[in-house]
Amino acid sequence: MSDFALEARNLCRDYNIGGGLFSSPRVLNAVKHVSFQVERGKTLAVVGESGCGKSTLARILSLIDAPTSGELFIDGARIDLARDGMTREMRQKVQIVFQNPYGSLNPRQKVGDVLMEPLLLNTTMSAKERRERAMQMLIKVGLGPEHFNRYPHMFSGGQRQRIAIARALMLSPGLLVLDEPVSALDLSVQAQVLNLLADLQDEFKLTYVFISHDLSVVRYIADEVMVMYYGEVVEAGTRERVFADPQHEYTKKLFAATPRADVETIRARLEAKRAAA
Ligand code: ADP
Ligand code: MG
Repeated sequence: MSDFALEARNLCRDYNIGGGLFSSPRVLNAVKHVSFQVERGKTLAVVGESGCGKSTLARILSLIDAPTSGELFIDGARIDLARDGMTREMRQKVQIVFQNPYGSLNPRQKVGDVLMEPLLLNTTMSAKERRERAMQMLIKVGLGPEHFNRYPHMFSGGQRQRIAIARALMLSPGLLVLDEPVSALDLSVQAQVLNLLADLQDEFKLTYVFISHDLSVVRYIADEVMVMYYGEVVEAGTRERVFADPQHEYTKKLFAATPRADVETIRARLEAKRAAA
């Protein structure tokens, strides 16, 4: 097997926009020639401001959307979504967690059903096995069996994001794409969810692509950092290097705009929690 859990070569995604009553059609190059590799068990953080193409890239990496051109490899195997469609095998390799768990959880579905659904659709597990696995996963993400029969609206934002993470892990994927997973949460809750993600990564040897516009979060979670600007990668490197010695003008600006206090608050909380554990 390849050393890389994920590799992108020259990924591009164009959108055809306009062409309405008052505008002529044009092409928006939302993602331009993006290349990178992520080692198994590591976290690549993708940063950049709103509109720079992060979610477009996230959809390509999690096989929701096909690139216009370029190549994608998961565990060394070339994935061609446009040609092959989404296979069961592919769904078991990569999953996505979105920023907004309100939108991604069906309000009429009980939590237990949310978690069991991927198993029902993609495995031959019995009802009893599905139930047991869903219960186990609830506990893994810091919830409990008493939550099994509740509806998503009965939970806080942080708990809902735990449910979304649990659902993403039901098929035991090796790779998780996390698109701004804590951006909608309060700072203290962010720290708890980041801590959970770190624990799950250790336990299940997960590879993460962690998308964020918030450098204080990236600083905590990333091994490698990739900075995007108008669809292009303008800087990439280890977390230590990019934070200590940003090269690109845009990266320097992005860093200058991040309040230091956020970083320290999150770090301090996490370190206190670790020390107490
Ligand atoms: P980010 O997640 O970094 O905020 P997005 O990937 O959502 O950025 O968007 C990148 C660019 O592509 C933006 O200019 C956005 O308006 C555009 N875009 C995103 N999705 C579509 C779509 N389905 N059709 C047309 N344009 C899109
Ligand atoms: Mg986005």
